[in-house]
Amino acid sequence: MTEEQKDIQLAARGFAQGEFDKEKILEWEQSHTFPRELWKKACKLGFVGIHFPEEYGGQGYGLFENILIVEEFCRRDSGVGIALSLVDFSSEIILHFGTPEQKKKYLIPVAKGEYISAGAYTEPDHGSDITTLSTTATKQDDAFVINGTKTFITNGSIADFFIVLCQVDPHANPPYRGQSTLLVEKGIKGLEATEIMPKMGIRMTSTAELSFSDVRVPVSHLIGEENKGFYQALEFFDESRVEIAAQALGIGQGAFDRALEYALKRKQFGRRLIDFQVTQHKLADMATRLETARLLTYKAAWNFDQKRIDPKLTSMAKMFAAKTAVDVADEAIQIHGGYGYITEYEVERFYRDAKITEIYEGTKEIQKNTIASALIGKLK
Ligand SMILES: Cc1cc2nc3c(=O)[nH]c(=O)nc-3n(C[C@H](O)[C@H](O)[C@H](O)COP(=O)(O)OP(=O)(O)OC[C@H]3O[C@@H](n4cnc5c(N)ncnc54)[C@H](O)[C@@H]3O)c2cc1C
Repeated sequence: MTEEQKDIQLAARGFAQGEFDKEKILEWEQSHTFPRELWKKACKLGFVGIHFPEEYGGQGYGLFENILIVEEFCRRDSGVGIALSLVDFSSEIILHFGTPEQKKKYLIPVAKGEYISAGAYTEPDHGSDITTLSTTATKQDDAFVINGTKTFITNGSIADFFIVLCQVDPHANPPYRGQSTLLVEKGIKGLEATEIMPKMGIRMTSTAELSFSDVRVPVSHLIGEENKGFYQALEFFDESRVEIAAQALGIGQGAFDRALEYALKRKQFGRRLIDFQVTQHKLADMATRLETARLLTYKAAWNFDQKRIDPKLTSMAKMFAAKTAVDVADEAIQIHGGYGYITEYEVERFYRDAKITEIYEGTKEIQKNTIASALIGKLK
C-alpha cells in the first residue's frame, strides 16, 4: 500500500473507533434502524464515494481505497459497516455508464450524504438467474412505463433513487439482450416499497420489495445504451462483489479481534484460554484464512483499478472471504463459550451479519459457477 492508502485506512479505522458507539448500535440493531447520523458524518469526512471523480463529489480514488474503508468499518461493527458501505449501492452504474448530467444530479448528492441509492435486479422469480426478467419497461412517446416487482432491495425503503434493470425489448433472443437500466426517483406515482422484516442479520440496513405499477419515467432516465442493461450489471458485479468480499473480510477480522481479546482474559482450569494449544491453533487457522481472504480481495480490487478485470478472481475473492467470515465468526462464538451466544458480546451479530455475504451479489454457488466457467474456457 502507498502512504496515501495507509492514511485512508487509518482515517477509516479512527472514525470507526471514535464514532461507532456500542450501546447505540445495540439499540439500532434491535429497532432495525438505519444509522442516519453516522451516515451523514461519514459522508462529510469523505468516506462515501471516495472512488467518484472530484467533479462528481468524490476524491478520484479507486476501488482499492474504497474497500479499505469498507473493511475497517465492518471490522469495527458488522451491522453499521454494512449499512454504511451500501449507501451508494449501484451508483457505480451511473458512474460508469451515465451521462454527465446524470452523474452531476445523482453522484454529488450521494457523496455529500444527501441521497442514498439502491440497485434493483432481483425479482421474486428471478434471483440467481437474471438473464430473464418479468419487470418490463414499455416505451410510450417520451417515457418508459415500468411494471413489475423487485425483491430484497437493499435501501429499498430509504433510498432517494433506484437503478432498475428492466426488460425493454420483449422479443429479444436471448432475453437479456433486451434489458435496459432505468433511473427511478423515490416518491414517483406507482412505486411502492414494502420493508421485508424481520431478518437474520444486517438489521440496520433496509431490505424491501418494490412494486412498480405504471411507473412513468422520462427517456432521459435511461442509463447508457438501450438493451445494454444486462452487460452493465455484469460489469458492475465485478466491482460490487469485491466490495462484498471486503465487507466479509472486515467482519471476519472484527470477530477475530474479539475472540483474541477474550482468549487473553478468560481463565478456566487456572489458565487463560490463550494458554491452551487448542485455542492457539484455532486463532492461527482463523488468522491464516483472513490473510488469504485479504490477499485475494486486495488483488481483485487492484486488478479492477488497473482495468485488468478478471471475473474469476473477483468470484474467488467474494466466495472465499464470505466463507471465511462465516467460519471465523462461528469459531469466535465458540471461543467465547456461552458468552458468545449473548448479544452483548457482539460475535453472535457478526455471525448473523456475515452470512449475507455468502448470498447477496451472487450466492457462493454462483461464484463457483463463474470460476468453473472461466477454468473450462466457457466465458464469453
Ligand atoms: C438482505 C438481502 C439484501 C439483498 N440486496 C439486494 C439488492 O440490493 N439488489 C438486488 O437486486 N438483490 C438483492 N438481494 C438479492 C440477492 O442477490 C439474491 O437473494 C441472490 O442473488 C439469490 O437469489 P434468490 O434469493 O432468488 O435465490 P435462488 O436463485 O432461488 O437460489 C436458491 C439456491 O439455489 C442455488 N442456485 C441457483 N441457481 C444455481 C445454479 N445455476 N447452480 C448452482 N446453484 C444454484 C443458489 O446458489 C441458492 O443456494 C438481496 C438479498 C438479501 C437476502
